[in-house]
Amino acid sequence: MSKDPHVIDLPKKVIIGNKVLERLPEIIREMGDYRRIHVVTGPHVKRIAGEVVLEGLSRQGIDFEVSIINSPTLQEAEAVLDEVRAFRPELVVGLGGGKAVDAGKYVAAKMKIPFVSAPTSASHDGIASPFVSLLGGGRVTSEKAMPPLAIVADVGVISTAPKRLLRAGAGDLIGKFTAVLDWRLAHRLKGEYYGAYAASLSLLSAKHVLAASEVIGGGSSEAVRIVIEGLVSSSVAMCIAGSTRPASGSEHLFSHALDIVAHYPALHGEEVAVGSIMMAYLHGKNWKRLRRAAEAIGLPTTAKELGVKDTDIIEALVMAHKIRPERYTILGESGLTYEAAERLAQKTGVIE
Ligand SMILES: [Zn+2]
Repeated sequence: MSKDPHVIDLPKKVIIGNKVLERLPEIIREMGDYRRIHVVTGPHVKRIAGEVVLEGLSRQGIDFEVSIINSPTLQEAEAVLDEVRAFRPELVVGLGGGKAVDAGKYVAAKMKIPFVSAPTSASHDGIASPFVSLLGGGRVTSEKAMPPLAIVADVGVISTAPKRLLRAGAGDLIGKFTAVLDWRLAHRLKGEYYGAYAASLSLLSAKHVLAASEVIGGGSSEAVRIVIEGLVSSSVAMCIAGSTRPASGSEHLFSHALDIVAHYPALHGEEVAVGSIMMAYLHGKNWKRLRRAAEAIGLPTTAKELGVKDTDIIEALVMAHKIRPERYTILGESGLTYEAAERLAQKTGVIE
C-alpha cells in the first residue's frame, strides 16, 4: 500500500539542448551558492566535454576536484566516496556515461548533498532516475538516492556518442511496456501499491519510442531528444511512484540474469528490449509490435545478435525470478521450467 503521506521529490531543472554543457557552471551557479564541487567523470570524458566544464567552473570561482571512474562497481564508487569525503564538496556532478553518472549519484546520496547529472550518452534511465544501480559481489544493487537537482543533457555531445548507446537507451524504454504490466499484475495478485499516474507516464515514454522507432534508428539529433525525453519521463515516473516499479519488471530481471549467465554480453538496454519482447508474449500482448520497433531502431532481437548462446537465454529465463524475489512479475514465484523457457524463446524468435 502507499505510504501516507506520499512524498514526491522531483528534479528541479531539466535542460536539454545544444551546447548546454558549456553553460553547466552557470546553471550550477544559478541553482545555489555552491563553492566546492566534486566532478565524477569517465576516463575519456575530460577530452570530449570535460575541459570546457572545468574551465567554466574555474571562471565562476568554484573550487573543484575530479575523480575518474573506470567501471560501474560498488568498489570504485566507494573509492570515489573516500576522495569526496576528504574534499567535502557541497555538490557532486556526474559528467559522462552511465557509469560516471551512477557513481556520482551514489556518492552524492551517501554524502547527503545535491547531485547534478550531466550525461554524455543516453544509454539507460539512470541518467535521471532517483535510484542508483552498481555492481558488487557479482550482483546488481539498486539503492534509493535523491533525484538529481538538475539534469543537463547536451544534445550535441550526446549525438557524438556511439549510436549503439542511444539505441540501447531506446531499448531500456521499450522495457517499460512489460514493467508496467508486471506492476499491475503485482497489484492485482499481491495487493502491491500501484500508482496509475506513474504507470501511465512510464508507458507514455515507451509509446513514444515505438511511434518514433524509425527516427531513432536514424540517430539524428531529433532521435537524441526523443530518447532523452523518454528517459527523463520514465525517471520522473519512478520519482512519483517512489520505486523502480514503473520502469523495471520481468524484462529487467531477464537482463540481470543474462548478465550473470553470460558475463555482461551486451548493453543493458539491448538485453531489456529482448526481455520485453519475450515477457510481452507471456502477458498475451502484441510482442511482434515490440520486435518490429526494436528492429527499426537497430536493436538486437535474437541470441545471436546479443552475442550469446541459445542456452544462455534459456538459463537466464529460468533464473530470472530469483534475481529479486520480492519483485513479483509474470514469471511468478517459481519461475519458468527449462522447457517453458525454451518454448518462449523459440516462439518469439529469440532462439532457433
Ligand atoms: Zn533499465
